[in-house]
Amino acid sequence: MRICRAKHKNEVFYGVIEGDSVLRIAGGPFDKPEYEGSIYSLSDVRLLAPCEPSKIVAVGKNYSAHAAEMNEGQPEEPLLFIKPGTSVIGSGDTVIYPAISKRVDYEGELGIVIGKKCRYVKEKEFASVVLGYTCLNDVTARDIQKSVSQWTRGKGFDTFCPLGPWIETDIEPGRLNIETRLNKETRQSSNTSYMTHSPGKLIAYISRTMTLLPGDVIATGTPEGIGPMQIGDIVEVEIEGIGTLVNKITSEIMPG
Ligand code: MG
Repeated sequence: MRICRAKHKNEVFYGVIEGDSVLRIAGGPFDKPEYEGSIYSLSDVRLLAPCEPSKIVAVGKNYSAHAAEMNEGQPEEPLLFIKPGTSVIGSGDTVIYPAISKRVDYEGELGIVIGKKCRYVKEKEFASVVLGYTCLNDVTARDIQKSVSQWTRGKGFDTFCPLGPWIETDIEPGRLNIETRLNKETRQSSNTSYMTHSPGKLIAYISRTMTLLPGDVIATGTPEGIGPMQIGDIVEVEIEGIGTLVNKITSEIMPG
């Protein structure tokens, strides 16, 4: 099932995508969907980020070929950091290039969307707390990230977590092709099977530390091929069985 969050006129709602239609559901997507009756054409709604995470728990250096290209070793345990909920945008929204950065990179990643409040999840039982999977771009101001030991500022700007275009509930996350394209040119091409720490291991590890809430997202790390984007570029993250997340880069307009 494909779950989306959509806007039609001034109404925002969750829906299930079937073909070219969006079937509106009553309430949230975290219980068995109750169809509310309204059906919209996909072209008549604007898709929003498919969930509203209280936090995005991201994993650094989870593909060995990416750790190698950064000239960094791989930590034995998952390396975690948090992106704020305010960094989330949807497919079709614009990533704002901060005026205070000189290098802003794409990082195409598989996003895991949590479906249930959970803690102390066993690795083997991870699927029971997952709603589904989406495409994610862990946008990073690389110069700012590298200038300090904490990554919050370099990875926490508004618009630095494109998510979408929807949540796919019926796939296994372990062997999916993942590709990032910049202006239609392929820059990252890998497979989720190359992750060092699997989705199950990540959920067990993260939920040993903190409660995960419905709609929270885990950014599972990026494969090799990261690189800079420029204002005006179009970046796409495509994951097999899910879809394609598309965003344009625009310049920052300061208030006043
Ligand atoms: Mg990343």
